[in-house]
Formats: sequence, structure tokens, C-alpha cells
Amino acid sequence: MIQPNSPSNRLPMHPLRSAAGLDRWAAEGVGSPATRDLLVVGAGLAGSAAAIRAAAHGVRVTWVDAASFPRDKVCGCCLNLSALGALAEIGCATIAHDLVTDDLRAWQLTAAGRTIDAKLPGGIAVSRAKLDWALIEQARSRGLQLRTKVQAKVLDVRGTGVDVRLSDESADRRFDAVIWATGLSGGGVSRWLPWVVAPHGPLGVAVLVDDLPGVPERTIRMVCADDGYVGLVRVEDGQVDVAAALRRDAGAGDGEAGGDPKSRLLARVNAILATARLGPLSEHCAERLMTTPPLRRARQCGHGGLLAVGDAAGYVEPFTGEGMAWAIRSGIAAADCVAETDRESDLGRLWCREHARQLRSRQWLCRALSQALASPGGSRWLFRAMALAPWAVRGAVRRLNRV
Ligand SMILES: Cc1cc2nc3c(=O)[nH]c(=O)nc-3n(C[C@H](O)[C@H](O)[C@H](O)COP(=O)(O)OP(=O)(O)OC[C@H]3O[C@@H](n4cnc5c(N)ncnc54)[C@H](O)[C@@H]3O)c2cc1C
Repeated sequence: MIQPNSPSNRLPMHPLRSAAGLDRWAAEGVGSPATRDLLVVGAGLAGSAAAIRAAAHGVRVTWVDAASFPRDKVCGCCLNLSALGALAEIGCATIAHDLVTDDLRAWQLTAAGRTIDAKLPGGIAVSRAKLDWALIEQARSRGLQLRTKVQAKVLDVRGTGVDVRLSDESADRRFDAVIWATGLSGGGVSRWLPWVVAPHGPLGVAVLVDDLPGVPERTIRMVCADDGYVGLVRVEDGQVDVAAALRRDAGAGDGEAGGDPKSRLLARVNAILATARLGPLSEHCAERLMTTPPLRRARQCGHGGLLAVGDAAGYVEPFTGEGMAWAIRSGIAAADCVAETDRESDLGRLWCREHARQLRSRQWLCRALSQALASPGGSRWLFRAMALAPWAVRGAVRRLNRV
């Protein structure tokens, strides 16, 4: 029986967490002997990191995703130094830099008629179609097979296992553990992993465009207004990724744009860009606009052998551009948890504690900003404070990039 907060419950240092262990794994391609049958659902960054790490531990991994790859998704596409450090932990340090050689150098935010600049200590911008595919390829080179276009459904979590239906198999299966890395859209597990904070807050919207004048190379450009904020960055091929978080209770520009919901969203993005004299994006972009459900959420992230990671466990806000780092780190930590916990232990409870320990210190700043961003008045106050104290902004940028 696990005793809360007992030092003996903390996960021991695994050889793969030490530099020597990682070197040995990279050299020999082996981890500890297979102990568990694990299903990883999702091949975004959280799922890929979990699958790669678990396989390195010697765990038997079945890995599925409902999508076919490469696929794009709503994202600001900026990998900060923390995310790059997390990729290095699974021996994938070079994959991002193989796709794009130039580091990000600057961060520029325009709000309430003022512009704040900060230097970035590093990081890169790469499209999610390329990045997620590169990680899947990396996994493949280590002998892991991803089964695409396969929908997973959790049927029951009982005893020491999880019953699952995979859409490409005729019989239901039982796994010792399931890592649920299904992002913002994967549902069907609330019976075992109830919401602690039900989805609410802004919607995510994104589109890749060939060009947008006013977006410099190697710079994250952000524009904030009462209706939400937009992030702009040039990715590996010079295209501009436009990603926005739009308030759900607002609707600037709806009137001019007519009835189509995507055209209305595009009009709102254009209205925000116009406050910084950028854009507009052409009406054709509406067809390619990708959207998300409400972003802010948190669920109990473990129950029995079912562990939620990445956005499936919870998400705060894209303002600080940390989601990919959180996703990769939680995927790695969940795989460690599965490999290092004996069958008699309560894996779900251990994971809840480990997940909270991992993310508490990394998410507090984003949570605090998210409170201010929740209302137009709070956002205005925040941006005014940022303009008055640019040194604090630069300090925060450094902190967010800590490895
Ligand atoms: C507007 C916006 C901007 C952002 N900008 C940044 C940024 O600049 N930097 C940053 O670090 N983060 C950013 N993020 C956050 C980042 O995109 C996410 O945190 C990260 O992609 C989460 O990865 P994931 O692996 O958890 O989920 P995903 O990448 O969403 O992967 C989930 C996968 O699960 C699959 N799936 C779902 N359900 C099932 C099922 N039942 N069976 C099988 N497969 C299933 C899906 O097909 C999908 O491929 C941003 C987010 C938003 C909304």
C-alpha cells in the first residue's frame, strides 16, 4: 500500500536518467528487461516521448494513433530550451535542429499600442507536421512501430490492468498499463480520470500561411488585444505559423465576416493583427483554419494502470509557449513510472503525485498569467505592467527556457 508523501514512494533514480545510463542506451539500444505490456495512445510529442522512453526501458510497447501522419495541428510551433532539453533526455537532441538550423533570437510583444522586446536564449520554430513526424521516424529507427488510423477506447480499468478496444483488432485487449496521450480532443476516460477543472477558457486557432510581412526571421512576434492574442513565427521553410487563443465570450469582427464560423474566427484573428498593423490574412485561410476545444483544463491524471500525459492530463494557456516541453516531460516521466513501479503498487496514484511534482514548479508562472488573461481588464493591466517592467519580462523569458 502506498503511503502519501513517504520518501520510499518517490521513484528511484533509474539508470536512464543518468548521463552514463543514457550513453549506454544510445550505444547498445537496450534498457532493463521487459516487465509490462504497455499501450501508448497518441503520437503527438507526449505519446512519442512516452513510447520511446518505455521501449528504452525494455517495456513491451503497443503504440497507436487515430490520425495518419504527417499531420498538422494547432500550435505556435516554438520549442523552447526546456523542450529541447527534454528531447535530449530521450536521445533525440538533434531531431529538431536537423529540421531547422537557426535558433530563435528575439521575442516581441505588442499590446495596448506598446511593443516590448526581449532576447531569447535559444529555441527553434518548426512546424508540427515535420516535428511530430521526425520523432515518429526516430522511434521507428529504434524498432518501435506506430499503428496509424487506429482509434483506442478504454473499456474498463480494474485490478492491475486496463481493458481496451483498438479499432483495427476484432477482440478486446488487456494491457498492464495505458499511457493516454490523446491531446485536447481525446475523450472517453472521465469515468476513471475525472475533470478537476472542466474545459473552459479560450479556443485555440491556427493556420500556416506562405508569408506575412512584418514577421521577422528568428523572432516570436506576439500581438495581444481584448479578444485574445496571436503568436506569429517563421518555421523551417519560411512559412508563417499563425496561432491564436481567442476569448470565448467575445466576437470582434463577427459582423463583417458573415455566417461561416471559420470566417468569423479568421476575422477575429485579423482584428487582433490589425492592432499591430499586421495582416490581414486572406479569406482563403479560413478553409485551412484549425481549431481546438476550450483550452484550460485539468483532470485526475492517474487511476490504476491508466495514466494521462501531455494535454490529455491538463493544459493551462499557450501564452508562455511551454506546452510541448510539458508534454514531452510528462511522457518521459510516465514511461519511467510504468517501468519502475512493481505490479503490486498503485501506479495511478504514484503517477498523480509524480505528475504534480514534475509540473507544479514549471506551470506556476503560466497559471498566474492565465488568471490575468482571463478578462479584458486583467489582460490590459498585465500588458501595462509588462510595458513598465520589461526587465521582469526578460527574467520570465529566461526562466521559461530553463532546461
Ligand atoms: C494556440 C496554441 C499555441 C501553442 N503554441 C505552443 C508553442 O509555441 N510552444 C509549445 O511548446 N506549445 C504550444 N502549444 C501547446 C502544444 O501544442 C501542446 O501542449 C502539445 O502539442 C501537446 O502534445 P500532446 O502530445 O499532449 O497532444 P497532441 O499533439 O494533440 O497529440 C495527441 C494525439 O492523440 C491522437 N488521439 C486522440 N484521441 C485518440 C484515440 N482515442 N485513439 C488514438 N489516437 C488518439 C491524436 O490523433 C493526436 O495525434 C500551443 C497550443 C495552442 C492551443
